[in-house]
Amino acid sequence: MQPTPPLDEFGLIDWIRRQQSGRSHQGTVLGIGDDCAILDVSAGSRLLVTTDMLMDGRHFRLASDGAEAVGYKAMGVNLSDIAAMAGLPRAAVVSVALPRANAVLIGQGLSAGLKRMADRFEVDLIGGDTNAWDGPLVVNVALLGETSPLGAVRRSGARPGDVIVVTGPLGGSLWRGRHLRPEPRIKEAQAICVAERLNAMIDISDGLSSDLNHILEESGGLGAILDADEIPIHPDAIDQSRTDGIPALDHALHDGEDFELCVVLSAERARRLLVRPPEPVSVYRVGEITAEPGLRLRRSGGVVLPLEPRGFDHFRNRASAGGP
Ligand code: ADP
Ligand code: MG
Repeated sequence: MQPTPPLDEFGLIDWIRRQQSGRSHQGTVLGIGDDCAILDVSAGSRLLVTTDMLMDGRHFRLASDGAEAVGYKAMGVNLSDIAAMAGLPRAAVVSVALPRANAVLIGQGLSAGLKRMADRFEVDLIGGDTNAWDGPLVVNVALLGETSPLGAVRRSGARPGDVIVVTGPLGGSLWRGRHLRPEPRIKEAQAICVAERLNAMIDISDGLSSDLNHILEESGGLGAILDADEIPIHPDAIDQSRTDGIPALDHALHDGEDFELCVVLSAERARRLLVRPPEPVSVYRVGEITAEPGLRLRRSGGVVLPLEPRGFDHFRNRASAGGP
């Protein structure tokens, strides 16, 4: 970071622009500096468009996490949405509302984090909007991508008898701040798609139970049985459980922000995928899709009980079901 920070909005934008210069990963025609950016679109592919907003006090705490970590997360969560469609990320537009006190330093830190994640996935930062106010930090990333030659994988293609797999252990992402360090499964999604045809996919941002529930609803009101013994539980969930007394399995089922993929495919294709997962992918079978609607959990011993989807609901400011 330069010793004398730029002083105003345009100085900051200029600083951000200089950080990007000469570093186009994607052959961007025109980046930061004009009224719009210009991109070439590859022949034969379609544009993917996604956006996610992060707010201080909700998705991060600026005072303890720092602006750099916030930028890294903001870019990462959007990349995770592109991964969930088996897409290829290309370019990002970032809008920020900076707290007026310290606006420039926060803007620079944020930018550095955004760029660190963007560079990992060869995404160009092509524009944005910069504002300052007396409110908390808010950052919105809009990410553009392209469908891969294999096409996009939607939430809506699950069928009864399909198998549900996830790409990594789940739960406890808040415990050690792992939610600030998403690992977008872009390469993994590509590799899985090349290996087997997928029926549906989603990234786990709100929690396995509620994200899987989106697949069930979008696929025409299907159900699913999750096998308690097969859910891969993250070590963070186990540690958190020792402190908060909530079973580690509940963390794995309902915590959000693991940013693993939840993948649905035919039983035969799942069998092949599980026996020989492509590099660099880990896959864990967690359950199956049923014609009977609703989520259920099969405990060891075979008892099957209804399971409420209980991810985070921003409008209710708490877990979306199961509470008082
Ligand atoms: P306009 O007034 O035409 O919207 P701005 O002055 O807001 O233009 O922005 C100037 C240029 O800087 C535009 O190319 C815009 O996309 C870019 N820009 C503004 N803020 C950011 C930011 N936070 N990150 C990246 N690019 C930005
Ligand atoms: Mg503007």
